[in-house]
Amino acid sequence: MNRLDGKVALVTGGSSGIGFAIAQRFVEEGAYVFITGRRQPELDKAKDEIGRNVTAVQGDVAVSADLDRLFHTISKEKGRIDVVVANSGLVDPQEFGQISEESFDLTFDVNARGALFTAQGALPQMTDGGSIVLVGSIAAYSGIEKYTTYSATKAAVRSYARTWTKELKDRGIRVNTLSPGPIDTPIMDSQAESKEGADAIRAAFASVIPLGRMGRPEEVAAAALFLASDESSFCAGMDLSVDGGMAQV
Ligand code: NAP
Repeated sequence: MNRLDGKVALVTGGSSGIGFAIAQRFVEEGAYVFITGRRQPELDKAKDEIGRNVTAVQGDVAVSADLDRLFHTISKEKGRIDVVVANSGLVDPQEFGQISEESFDLTFDVNARGALFTAQGALPQMTDGGSIVLVGSIAAYSGIEKYTTYSATKAAVRSYARTWTKELKDRGIRVNTLSPGPIDTPIMDSQAESKEGADAIRAAFASVIPLGRMGRPEEVAAAALFLASDESSFCAGMDLSVDGGMAQV
């Protein structure tokens, strides 16, 4: 079924992990997709793997000039945006008592500031009746050790969906948060010094998930497709968790 036939979608951080799976699924469902990320080689690889109906625009969501360039490219190539998935994000685990100002600023710049200015930058080109999907995290409402700043940025993202749902109602633009639990992506490796360390993080997460395993990016992409498409036409301001039950029971 082509649930996104003819739609134009932006997926930030579409070069890896969850964002890549979302971009790939959206194209399979008939969309034309713009993907972003800072690393050009990762973007080139993702573009090749997706294979069609995709434009990769290198850039940092925390840098206004990069976002301006992204929206200029979309305007020139397609002239509109139907779906925005603000997905770019990072985690920099630090124990409370030792959180550095640099880590706080970086995490808020990318996760909280980046999501806001991505969605706001898209607004002028957004089709009335479009969909904004903000990738949050169950960390927004769970206590996870060393995730002080990360969790706070995701709580901010959850809050955006509430405010924007009211502010965008006259345009019929729906805003929802999609909150993954632990999903097996490169973000897990980014939190450890070694492969053994990353394996230990994966095992620790898997052990507290009721379904007994980590999630797969494709499982989050299926939920993103639901929120992006008309199948969720009466869902607004909500939070959809895809977490194997971790934060639900
Ligand atoms: P990932 O595989 O590391 O992918 C992150 C993506 O974001 C990459 O494409 C990365 O590309 C991009 N990105 C990072 N910083 C960026 C920046 N400053 N500007 C533009 N793009 C940037 O991680 P993931 O697991 O798929 O995470 C995707 C989203 O899901 C994040 O928001 C994350 O917080 C959220 N999430 C993940 C999990 C999980 O367990 N995996 C759980 C809950 C929520 P570059 O590095 O090249 O910029």
